[in-house]
Parts: sequence; structure tokens; C-alpha cells
Amino acid sequence: MKDYDAIIVGSGVGGGVVARRLSEKGARVLMLERGDFVPRETDNWSVDAVFFRKKYKAKDTWFDKRGKPFDPGMYYNVGGSTKFYGGAMFRLRERDFEAIEHRRGVSPAWPYRYGDLAPYYDQAERIFRVHGDDRFDRTSPRGAAPFPYAAVRSEPAVEKMAESFRSQGLSPSSLPLAVNSGAAGSCILCNTCDGFSCKIAQKNDAETCGVEPALKTGRVDLMTRAFARHLLLTPDGKRISRIEIEHAGERKQLSAPLFVVSCNAVNSAALLLRSADSAAVAGVANRSGVVGRHYMVHNQTALMALSHRINGTVFQKTLAINDWYFGDEAFRWPMGQMQMLGKLQGGMLTANVPYLPRALGDRMARHGMDWIGLSEDLPDPDNRVTIVDGQIKLSVTLNNLDGHRELVRRMKKALQGAGYPIVVTKSLVKHATGHQCGTVRMGDDPGSSALDPYCRAWDQRNLFVVDASFFPSSAAVNPALTIAAQALRAADHILATDLA
Ligand SMILES: Cc1cc2nc3c(=O)[nH]c(=O)nc-3n(C[C@H](O)[C@H](O)[C@H](O)COP(=O)(O)OP(=O)(O)OC[C@H]3O[C@@H](n4cnc5c(N)ncnc54)[C@H](O)[C@@H]3O)c2cc1C
Ligand code: SF4
Repeated sequence: MKDYDAIIVGSGVGGGVVARRLSEKGARVLMLERGDFVPRETDNWSVDAVFFRKKYKAKDTWFDKRGKPFDPGMYYNVGGSTKFYGGAMFRLRERDFEAIEHRRGVSPAWPYRYGDLAPYYDQAERIFRVHGDDRFDRTSPRGAAPFPYAAVRSEPAVEKMAESFRSQGLSPSSLPLAVNSGAAGSCILCNTCDGFSCKIAQKNDAETCGVEPALKTGRVDLMTRAFARHLLLTPDGKRISRIEIEHAGERKQLSAPLFVVSCNAVNSAALLLRSADSAAVAGVANRSGVVGRHYMVHNQTALMALSHRINGTVFQKTLAINDWYFGDEAFRWPMGQMQMLGKLQGGMLTANVPYLPRALGDRMARHGMDWIGLSEDLPDPDNRVTIVDGQIKLSVTLNNLDGHRELVRRMKKALQGAGYPIVVTKSLVKHATGHQCGTVRMGDDPGSSALDPYCRAWDQRNLFVVDASFFPSSAAVNPALTIAAQALRAADHILATDLA
């Protein structure tokens, strides 16, 4: 085995971005990824392959709090979930970094402020070639600085809806997107982006923006189909000495001076918990007992607004509404964000609502405008990942739903006011795992957090965890840009300390 400076586990946003930054600065890195590359093929854009046959979803089974098995809807491949994400790249709002009172509790402060992450948000937006324009977003923390690329323009039906919202006193704004449209590349703004992988590699994801540039440095080796089973400790429990993996039917142990774990919030917590031994009885990085706890995933509802008109929009994910994000005089607690979904197609509806006849699903999709509401859920220590008989158990009780219900109620009214008399809603909370975070939280206090503010484990100082598990709170915007920004911050810290 080569002499690596670091072993990175997981090739999603966190792992991909750290690999790129470390290798571009001269470090030698081994990446371990349990999945393989997503092939570029016709099925990438097939509703049947993606939604009915679930061709690209991980074959994994987790258990809920009652011990019932479920399919967690994960993606185990190079680039992780971002191969299938919607490319919405929002920054958290400035106040999201502070403690905020909600209707049903308090969202805790982060161990640093927005200004500490802002330069890394700038870099992350450049790396993921984000297109945007948030002049009309009153909650945006970006200030006057332009995005790296101009916003993707809304198509006529969406623009008409935006006009109607404006006449209702709302301030819809363009949705920041990581697709190579316009000057950035050859994205064709198709209707199979959100939930699909890009057949022509024009979505800016963790593979194209993290792993590929990292491999190009010649200093990174990527081992696919390599499942990380355990982290092994030195006898005093103070450092990680090796990692045990399963690869090509064999168990192997690999070592390096530094380990960066980025398997996503549930799988990273599971790896740390599985690695318990006599020197760390509750699991690696877990003297505080928080590992696996405080799981969050956003309260989410999809809304389909229907009218007699046919919605001919192809690329629909271009609009967001943040007016209700932090509340107002009528409801003084945070409600969250509304954003458009990629254009739903009939097959996508019937795949998710089994009793819906296909013809009706097709008809609804032709007439529908599709939105999603995201609201903050609070970090409850009892919402947690545990390992039971070697399997992942994810126990979740929903919380803080009042603000979310108010958000959905207001959005329904706004859509009706925009000429869509019927608004169908579907709560997405049951077993949703897309925005998972919080299970290996960072903080200032080793007694109540697993990671320091640079994502370094308090207990084993040669271990970093850089996926969304570090989030102390979930805020109410999509997580990927924040994961990327903090991964860059952690990587620069590694370069300035361990690899100086
Ligand atoms: C359909 C969908 C749409 C989304 N849309 C958006 C969006 O528009 N905007 C946004 O910001 N976010 C979106 N998200 C969420 C976003 O994709 C995730 O928050 C983000 O990708 C998480 O990145 P990560 O690096 O933490 O984890 P992941 O992307 O899950 O990467 C973890 C990687 O680790 C690997 N791994 C796991 N366990 C092991 C192990 N034991 N050994 C080796 N490898 C392992 C996995 O295979 C995976 O490749 C979406 C998610 C989904 C599912
Ligand atoms: S919209 Fe662009 S980036 Fe998205 S799948 Fe289509 S071509 Fe690819």
C-alpha cells in the first residue's frame, strides 16, 4: 500500500470536496467508496428505470423505531446523493447560525457565525458553478456580490406565477442552481434533473466537482466497492490507527495518519458506533454520548397546484419564496422555505402513490405546478441512529410541525390566489432521508458535541467527520452547499495543522 497522508471514507459532497482541496494542495489521498460510478446511459433519464425499477437506489434495509424494516432511499455511488440531487445550492441564512426560538423549542446556535463560513460559501459556489440572483430574496446573506453565473431564467408559466405572487405582496426569487446552463456548459435544461443523474454530466455534483478534479491531480486513488466496517483505535483510544474494509470479498486493514469520514449522517454515525471497543466503549468520538443522536431531516411537504391550463414548463426548478422563513407578525416563529420542484411526470406520481391510476397521474402532472415546503426540525436526542444486531435502526418522532403547517397553509393560499384552485399536498416525512443531518454534531463543548468547530473529533484528534452529520441545527434550506463550504473550511484547517 502507498504512503497516504489521509484516508477519506465516502465520495459525496463532504468527501469529494475534501479530497479535491487536499490533493490540489499536494496531499496524497486514498478515497474509499462503498458504491461504484453511476454509468452514463439512456436509463439515467428514464422515469421507469429511476422511479419504478429504482435502478440506482441503494439496496439497503434499515429499521424504524418500531423495528419495522424500510428502504431508506439512499444512493451508494461515486458522488453520493448529489448525482441525483436537484442542484439547489442555498446558503444558510445569517440568523440560522444563532439560537432561534421556534414555536416548539429552540434551534441551537452553531459554534461560529455566518461570517466565518462566508468565504468558504464563496469558494463552494465557484466550485459547484452556482447560477443565481438573490436580489429579491430578503433573507439572503450574500450581500451585493454576484453569483458565479447568471440565474437560470424561469419559463413563462413559472414567471407568470411569480408575477402573481408579487401582486400578492410576496417576493419570489430565483433559485440558486448547480447546473451548467448558458455560458457554463451544455446543460439542456431538461425535465429529468431533480431526482435523476445527468446523462451528459452537466449537473455540478460531488463527482464532477470534487472527485474528478481530485483524481486529475494524480495524487488520489479511489477504491470503489470498498465498504468501511470499523475504525480501529490505538490502545489508549486516542487516535485512529487503521480502518477495516470489505473489498472484493475480503476484509482488509488500511492505515494513514489522518482519517476523514463522510458517509452521510446515518452511515457515519453507524460507522462510529460500530467501531466501539474497550478503549471507546460507546463508540468512536462518542465520550459525550451524542453520536447517532439529534438526527434531523427537515419537515417536508410537496404541493401540486392544479388548474385547467396545461403546464408546458420543461425545466421548472427556478423559483423560491423565503418571505415566511423567520416568521412575521401573524406567526412570529420560523416557518421555512418554499421552492419549486423539478417538473413531476405522471410516472413519478404513480410510483410514489401506488393507488393513483397512471392515466390520472399523467393528467395531474400535465396540469400541475410543483413545489416543496422545507421547515426546520429540532435536534431531539431521542431521534437517533443505533446499531441493533449489526443493523441500522433509525428512530424518529417528528417535531416542530406548527411552523411547517402554517407554511403549507400560506403557500396553498398563494397558489390559489395565482389561479390554481386545487392544491394537492403530500407530506414527505415518512422515512425521508434526503436531508439527513445532525448525528455527529459539532460544538464548543466536548461534553455535548462530538466534533470541534473544524469537524475534528474531540476524542480522536486524527479523525474528521465532514458530511451533514456535523450540523448542530438543520435550518430550512437544502444542505449541500453548507456541507461543501464546511468541508473546505475543515480541509484548510487540516492543511494548516496536520499536513502543514
Ligand atoms: C433526490 C434528492 C434530491 C436532493 N436535492 C438536493 C438539492 O437540490 N440541494 C441540496 O442541497 N441537497 C439536496 N439533496 C440532499 C443532498 O444530496 C445531501 O445532503 C448531500 O448529498 C449529502 O452529502 P454527503 O457527502 O453528506 O453524503 P452522501 O452524498 O450520501 O455521500 C456519502 C457517500 O459515502 C458512501 N458511504 C456510505 N457509507 C459508507 C461506508 N461504510 N464505506 C464506504 N463508503 C460509504 C456512500 O456510498 C456515498 O457515496 C437531495 C437528496 C436527494 C436524495
Ligand atoms: S437539466 Fe441540465 S444538468 Fe440537469 S439533467 Fe438536464 S442536462 Fe443535466
